[in-house]
Amino acid sequence: MRGRNAMAGWYCGSVLVEVAVPAPVHRTFTYAAKDPRALEAGRRLVVPFGRRETVAFSLGPAREAPPGEIREVQAVLDDGPIFSPELLSLLRFAADYYLHPLGDAMRAALPPALLEPGPVSERAPLPDRVELAVPADAAREAVRRAPRQAALIERLAEAGGALDAQDLRRELGEVAPILRALAAKGVVRLSARPAPGPEIFGGGPAPEPSPEQAEALRAIEASLGRYQAFLLQGVTGSGKTEVYLQAIRAVLARGQGALVLVPEIALTPQLAARFRSRFGDEVAVLHSGLGDAERVREHRRLLRGEARIALGARSAVFAPVRDLGIVIVDEEHDPSYKQEDRFRYHARDLAVMRARLSEIPCVLGSATPSLESLENARRGKYARLVLSRRLDGRGLPEVEIVDLRQPAEEIPAGEPEILSPRLLEELAAAVERGEQAILFLNRRGHSPLVLCPTCGERASCPNCDVGLTYHRSTESLRCHYCDLRVRRWERCPSCDEELLILGAGTERLELSLKERLPRARVARLDRDVAPSARRLHRILSAFAAREIDVLVGTQMIAKGHDFPGVTLVGVVLADVGLGLPDFRAGERTFQLLTQVAGRAGRGEVPGKVIVQTFRPEADAIVHASRHDPEGFAEAELRRRRDHGYPPFRRMLAVHLDGRDAAEVQRQAQALGELARRLAADRAEVRGPAPAPIARLRGRSRFQILLLAERASTLRAVGARLLAALPPGRGVRVALDMDPASTL
Ligand code: ADP
Ligand code: ZN
Repeated sequence: MRGRNAMAGWYCGSVLVEVAVPAPVHRTFTYAAKDPRALEAGRRLVVPFGRRETVAFSLGPAREAPPGEIREVQAVLDDGPIFSPELLSLLRFAADYYLHPLGDAMRAALPPALLEPGPVSERAPLPDRVELAVPADAAREAVRRAPRQAALIERLAEAGGALDAQDLRRELGEVAPILRALAAKGVVRLSARPAPGPEIFGGGPAPEPSPEQAEALRAIEASLGRYQAFLLQGVTGSGKTEVYLQAIRAVLARGQGALVLVPEIALTPQLAARFRSRFGDEVAVLHSGLGDAERVREHRRLLRGEARIALGARSAVFAPVRDLGIVIVDEEHDPSYKQEDRFRYHARDLAVMRARLSEIPCVLGSATPSLESLENARRGKYARLVLSRRLDGRGLPEVEIVDLRQPAEEIPAGEPEILSPRLLEELAAAVERGEQAILFLNRRGHSPLVLCPTCGERASCPNCDVGLTYHRSTESLRCHYCDLRVRRWERCPSCDEELLILGAGTERLELSLKERLPRARVARLDRDVAPSARRLHRILSAFAAREIDVLVGTQMIAKGHDFPGVTLVGVVLADVGLGLPDFRAGERTFQLLTQVAGRAGRGEVPGKVIVQTFRPEADAIVHASRHDPEGFAEAELRRRRDHGYPPFRRMLAVHLDGRDAAEVQRQAQALGELARRLAADRAEVRGPAPAPIARLRGRSRFQILLLAERASTLRAVGARLLAALPPGRGVRVALDMDPASTL
């Protein structure tokens, strides 16, 4: 095997390199290399590892030769290091802080294609739209002997003859060559649609900053060239994005680059369009919807300095922007910044650390800042910038609460209506006036509860500790956690009684709305109708073009879209999510409600929000309806302090899961005891206890929560726990610093 004879070449001019391998091992390795460029820290290398070859990363010269055999670096890749010294120190910090192997952290920072030893295969360009050019049967006949072509034709026929190429690729893998073959046979028609340009989303030159924007810009510009974190707090429409754009312009003028993080770039095409219309090709947009080659191309453009602005979601925090001058995190409170598996980093927190390491400013923007950031601002660690009003001079929309509780004697027989008379009345009036409305319900499917009226048995997932949701469009019962789908049962499997279907999700809401407002054009937006960014974009464009009157949706509709025609927002059930057994449930609900409410009245006509709830006195609902983030923060911070939760203490969660419940529990108990011993009186240890979702995808789950004043205390305990882990026996253990959720 190659590399086995490394020792032979070792004394004739080889060097020793410390190497991080992208594997779940908490250590680095020493390799010999003939090529001295292997010593450059941050270089991609190809090394033998176990019985295979892998891409790995140089960390520079090894300090000493380890005993035993030393294997040899097979190849040194690229023209230079792929990680700058600055990025390397960020990754070292992150690996250390999140107790994660460095090599694997470095893996997470690169486009996946750069982890393959071979050259990056240019993915064939994909058309936008694919249509059958002949009747389905003729098409089937034409592709009889080509199974992959036949599968594609079936999929097209099933979809009524036309589909987005992106969706096909998502379902069937790389389809470009097949599509070309089919087009050559004349069986399908391929067409390209131009990307939505700035004309749809309003580009144009930069406006004159308002006085508050000017003040924020002055503060940010004054801090260029040194570390300073800012919390930019302003309601939706108060001009935060404009502040980012103009701050970036100042940074570019200094010859430096910018990094902009947004929660879900694939969901916010408007924002990318706005950046492009201002900065053109200087912007590299990074997101998981891109093909491999496109991701590599954007990465290269940044690395070479051809693009100086990186715009992307979570993992873009590692984007190789040259000579970085500013870091911006939009919607800094958004939970999607926390990676929930494997390398469990928080992109917002790493963004602040990156700014610190690079000695540059960092701007965290939000209408509803996280309690962590508010607390940091209160302690003076972050400078606070406030945009107190909407730029159009209009006030925030008026919020009306509809209390869904009713005295027992007034409860009508049968299931309650989803839409209160009040909300229906406002909806009808808005549609009548030719205005638009958004209806928010954070639950997809038709009904979340399928129940036997005789034995009380609930249809639940065999793999997960959760109920199944009835989806009417597919007549199926589905688990929203593991994606299990079964045909809808008509009757209870044990008593043969007809099942009850209770409660409402977006699908039912849409149906009910079409029934109640037959003249309104109603559409729905959730993961079921828009599994891809492209379909999402199509629905949003139709809504923007006013081809839809009422848009029903999950939190997908809450994010950053700007629809001037919307004058009414209805929150169908504000309580969804409030009852979750997680210490951030109230904070999330408040943020989501505020965000949804912000969709109302962004144009000529002032907006109105109607919130339906069974818990009108809950802090999150009261303060969201009063547009009062300070009031909410005060109440919630008090509660957090009383319970010793973040931001007053740091938290480390230890998650255990495995198929054998007894074994998971046994190991959880052992780890819990060890944690208590290690923590002594420096950290509080809660649990082990079954996780709130006690079973997921067939695995039983336990967790241990550690709380301490200082992160370093938790990290020290965490590192000792890792070192002491017993051999797996089918139980996975994951350490989660600053967990975003403890479900
Ligand atoms: P936010 O990011 O806080 O939601 P935006 O930056 O998107 O706010 O601004 C809201 C709207 O106001 C956008 O349409 C934007 O183009 C416009 N806008 C922002 N700043 C100004 C300004 N100084 N003068 C005029 N219009 C502005
Ligand atoms: Zn499940």
